[in-house]
Amino acid sequence: MLETKLEPKVKAIVKAEHKPFELIIIGGGPAGLTAGIYAKRAKIDTVLIEKALPGGIITSTELVENYPGFPDGISGEELGQRFEQQAKKNGLDIVYGRVIKLEQKDKIFKVTTEDDIYSARAILISTGGDPKPLGIPGEKEFTGRGVSYCATCDGPFYKDKKVAVIGGGNSALEEAIFLTKYAKIVTVIHRRKEFRADPVLVDKAKANDKIFFMLDSVLDLIVGDKKITSIVIKDVKTNKKTSISMDGVFIYAGHKANTEFALDLLKLDENGNIITDEKLATNVPGIFAAGDVRKKNVWQVITSAADGAIAVHSVKDYLEGKK
Ligand code: NAP
Repeated sequence: MLETKLEPKVKAIVKAEHKPFELIIIGGGPAGLTAGIYAKRAKIDTVLIEKALPGGIITSTELVENYPGFPDGISGEELGQRFEQQAKKNGLDIVYGRVIKLEQKDKIFKVTTEDDIYSARAILISTGGDPKPLGIPGEKEFTGRGVSYCATCDGPFYKDKKVAVIGGGNSALEEAIFLTKYAKIVTVIHRRKEFRADPVLVDKAKANDKIFFMLDSVLDLIVGDKKITSIVIKDVKTNKKTSISMDGVFIYAGHKANTEFALDLLKLDENGNIITDEKLATNVPGIFAAGDVRKKNVWQVITSAADGAIAVHSVKDYLEGKK
């Protein structure tokens, strides 16, 4: 008997039928929730397992300006909630739990969470990624005491203070601009001269008189007592180190894919992202991947949502025994 902590309706499904779902979606960001909408509309017996709050990493972005349909932009939190509402309206059941293991026996997959066990004929992994730490001295000690990976969450604590933003990607520049709402000085520290971020964001950041840049530089050390007091920056060309007083450090050095539960099964790239083909099938027949968790070139809300739709078409073909 499966012992569950599911909402009543889902509990009934698991206990009464006791047969595998057709599809389990692991992860409720834009890719997973879009897949949920498409799967329910295709009448695929589906459940989505989410470890925390549905919506994904965009829920910690203040403003999403490049998702079509919202000419004035939309807060990441609201966009995430809208994805969730639409999925639920289409009948998707969402259950909560952290997946710790994915296994295969014959043609059935077993998904183990901290509390429950589920089974399904097909799996869609859309677990995204978590912020990648830099791994420098002081980072771990001062996390939550000056080191943050979420400007939307912690920015308001830095009113009229000095903060540093690490990275040269879209997240770094977007959040640096956001932090100027509160901080008096925002210093972007980036290890190269060229930015990975979209040119429009680079121009916007350069035009902001509260934002300063330290390029060809890396964060070497974070110093403090109860809270951060200063940081040490290293010039990568000269190796010269400079100490500057600082109140907060926001790190945007990319993401690490959430794939720990499937390491034995799946083929990953050097960054831990799942390798898929154009149908979003992985190396294991019956397991598909969508969104930021998979290896791809463009990581955007819109490409994650598109992945969700494509993956469900492939899942449907797989369940129907088509190639
Ligand atoms: P990202 O594009 O991978 O950028 C990470 C940045 O961190 C890069 O500039 C990288 O430097 C730097 N970095 C990585 N490891 C480092 C280290 N150990 N020390 C110092 N610097 C380090 O990550 P992201 O900005 O989080 O974005 C992830 C994806 O989401 C991207 O595809 C991005 O386009 C997308 N995104 C889009 C939007 C938007 O469209 N509005 C907003 C946010 C994110 P190098 O450049 O030298 O590698």
